[in-house]
This record gives sequence, C-alpha cells and structure tokens, in this order.
Amino acid sequence: ARLDTMAHTDTLSGLLNRRGWDAQAGTLWANHERQDADLALLMLDLDWFKRINDSAGHEVGDQVIRVFGEILRAAVRRGDVVARVGGEEFAVLMPRADEAAARSLDGRLREMLRAKTIPGLPVRVGFSAGLALANAHDHNLEALLARADGALYQAKSLGRGRLEVAPFMSNLSHDYGSSTL
Ligand code: GH3
Ligand code: MG
Ligand code: MG
Repeated sequence: ARLDTMAHTDTLSGLLNRRGWDAQAGTLWANHERQDADLALLMLDLDWFKRINDSAGHEVGDQVIRVFGEILRAAVRRGDVVARVGGEEFAVLMPRADEAAARSLDGRLREMLRAKTIPGLPVRVGFSAGLALANAHDHNLEALLARADGALYQAKSLGRGRLEVAPFMSNLSHDYGSSTL
C-alpha cells in the first residue's frame, strides 16, 4: 500500500501526481456517471512562473510549488481529488460541488496565497483558473477537462490572476444533431 501511495504522489507538492490523478479522478468520474450529482473541475496554473524561476531561482520556484501544494491540501474538502498534473499546473475534481462551491475554493486559495510570504521571493505569486461544471454533454472526463482547459486559457488571455467559467458546451464538441439546443 505504501509503494502504491508513493507511486501516486508527487514528492514536491505532496499532491497526487499524474498517475494518481488518472486513477482517482477516473474512479470519481465512474461514480459520478452512476449518480446525478454536481461535479466541478477546477484547473489552476501559476502565473508568470518562468519569470519567478528566472529572477528568484529554480529553488525558490520549487518552494512556491511546495507552498501551493500545502495550501491546496488545506483548502479542499474531503473527497476532492487534487493533483499536480503538470509543472506548475494543478487540477481539483470536486464531487457535489456547484459553481458557488468551486468559486469559493478559488477565493480561499487566492486569500491563502496572498497571506503567504515565500523567502527569497520579492513578488506575490498568482494563478489563473478555469472552471467547468459537468453536464450531460460531457461524455467522459476528457470532455470536462477540455472545457476546464479552455476556460483556463481564457483566464490567461484576459489578463491572468482570475477565474473563468467554461461555457456549457465547448466549441470543439461534435455533439450536434442529437442536441436539444
Ligand atoms: P503563464 O502565466 O502563461 O502560465 O506563464 P508561465 O511562465 O507560468 O508558463 P510557462 O509554461 O511558460 O512556464 C512554466 C514554467 O514552469 C517553465 C518551467 O521551467 C517551470 N517549471 C515546471 N516545473 C517546475 C518545477 O518543478 N520547479 C520549478 N522551479 N519550475 C518548474
Ligand atoms: Mg504558468
Ligand atoms: Mg503551465
């Protein structure tokens, strides 16, 4: 069991790694499909992280990822699946969470990050967030992820440091015809 935990944990952030995410988010999605409850996916990406590395050093950058991992673990609810899915990119899958609950998590994270000073880092770190709320058009977890990613991209292009909510259906969806829209 300990080997299994290790294989699914990211040592820097203490969160699930990509493999852990695939396993746990997959299980949660399967449960979600059998129910009809809310499910929210929040994708987070630290802003201007390359600049932080370049100006303060890679070690300080690592420390930022550690601190963000701590904050995430403290802020999420029991049952949420939270992972470091990329270098400075994180995902939170929230069962029984509506838009207000997900926005509230986003707000708590921003507050906690603001309150934190990181030694060697003269500037504040911020993040951009993309939120997608699962609906009947999301035929799999990948579809939900794609919508959250789109919203995250939108948050970046609108100036960063903000949350954007994905539209009900992504433009990439090919689910025309059967739709009631
Ligand atoms: P944006 O606001 O658009 O997200 O810009 P960004 O600089 O955050 O994004 P970009 O993808 O250009 O750079 C991400 C950087 O994150 C580049 C990479 O070196 C750094 N990074 C990825 N993993 C780690 C890590 O484990 N430790 C440190 N210190 N840096 C990392
Ligand atoms: Mg970034
Ligand atoms: Mg990134």
